[in-house]
Amino acid sequence: MTTLDSSSEDQPQPPVGAFVCSGFRWNQADAYLFDIDGTLLNSRDPVHYYAFHHALRKVFGVEATIDNVPVQGNTDIGILRAVLRREGLADVEINAGLPQMVEHMCAEAQRNAGQMRPELCPSILELISTLYSQQKLLIAASGNLETIGWLKLESAGIRHMFSFGSFSYPLEYRADIFRQGVHWARQRLGTDASVYVVGDTPADIEAAKMVGVPVIAVATGIFKFEDLLRLEPDACFACGTDMLATT
Ligand SMILES: [Mg+2]
Repeated sequence: MTTLDSSSEDQPQPPVGAFVCSGFRWNQADAYLFDIDGTLLNSRDPVHYYAFHHALRKVFGVEATIDNVPVQGNTDIGILRAVLRREGLADVEINAGLPQMVEHMCAEAQRNAGQMRPELCPSILELISTLYSQQKLLIAASGNLETIGWLKLESAGIRHMFSFGSFSYPLEYRADIFRQGVHWARQRLGTDASVYVVGDTPADIEAAKMVGVPVIAVATGIFKFEDLLRLEPDACFACGTDMLATT
């Protein structure tokens, strides 16, 4: 059970839009797994969106959209599967088409990469630049397909600060993506290395808890601060600006 930080009156109070569990310091990790969409940036373009449709049409001849499928906190493979199940396909057929769909999606996103318009979330550049300059290991951990995730970070000008990434496919579930990222981080830094997750959705909080690592929630995607706080992350911030103000 989380409790509000019981700072005494003579200690600085966290800014509005900031919650930190008692004893937790968000800036004390050796490595950080950063979700991409809604956490580092928000895409103001349809490149990723259309790549799904392109792959569904090319591989299965399905003229479906990904509308009405929960995309926030989902993975690209999870989204494809949900659309195809809705169209009546069995998992065995879906699985057989996955490698081709992934190939088509990545090729289509690559072809349209010049149209990507990522908008960095507030203070993200300062936040990750600070962590990077402190030699923290920064890892992208996203439900995006790898090629697409890197294209977004590259387009946003922040790819160079990330050492590696853990993405969707062949993994399909967020907890597995985080588990892999944590494993790789500890392979680099040692088994005692502390690794925190930073994410913007309930799915990030739940997955980090499943993996057993602390989670910092940021309300820079579609979920509100209060909604994320209810799920008891170790820290919760309205945005990176509040995070930087809480050190
Ligand atoms: Mg996200």
